[in-house]
Amino acid sequence: MRITRLVCGHCGSVLSGLGQDQLFFCSNCGKGWSPGEKGLEPVQVQCRASADSRLPLPFWLVRATVHILKRTVRNEFISTMLRFGSRYEEDVLSSKKRETGGQSDRRTFLFPAFPVDGLPGTGVALSEHIRDLPEIIGAEDGLPDICGGSISPADAVVLARCVAVGQETEKADWLAEIEIIFSSVKSALIILPCTQEVEKVAVAETGVSFFRRSVSGWYEIVDYHSCKRTGSIKA
Ligand SMILES: [Zn+2]
Repeated sequence: MRITRLVCGHCGSVLSGLGQDQLFFCSNCGKGWSPGEKGLEPVQVQCRASADSRLPLPFWLVRATVHILKRTVRNEFISTMLRFGSRYEEDVLSSKKRETGGQSDRRTFLFPAFPVDGLPGTGVALSEHIRDLPEIIGAEDGLPDICGGSISPADAVVLARCVAVGQETEKADWLAEIEIIFSSVKSALIILPCTQEVEKVAVAETGVSFFRRSVSGWYEIVDYHSCKRTGSIKA
């Protein structure tokens, strides 16, 4: 078992977080860290939540060139009593499909850095609102303390691909099969101010929210912030 000292490699401040966390943010100097082969390794960070933010949460911002090698769509949706829910079968439906793949584009994905049920769907919605994010905040303005970032940099790339597939399935055709690869991937941890509503959590000013109950360790995250600023979070 490897023991990693949770100390900022830049300024020496002690880092804190929850038991499952894979991402640590130094609220003193603003550097990000993730446990790797050689102890804590640096992670790019964009902090967009201030020290006053009641619920600063970690997200991933992944930029990649998306190559759609193959994209097969059905020309019509086929569902009968017998076939309902059955999978696309190439031999049966071969005459009713066409290829729409073969292009590459540069995309930026934004999604939670903690597990949320239906994460790709939340990622599709958030990725459409990257322009609406608040300004980047520097260490001189005061930084928040975060926890809950349990999706590692390697897993973030896998999930970004799931978001890309989600974007393709949302298009107004019947996607049957897709083959996507990424190149020139750059990832950054991004900290966004969130607010708890009755059952949901709203992400900054994006208009996107997710259900609190869909986050497995939600109460640990809330407790962490409540302890930091006694009783100021509405449960
Ligand atoms: Zn530091």
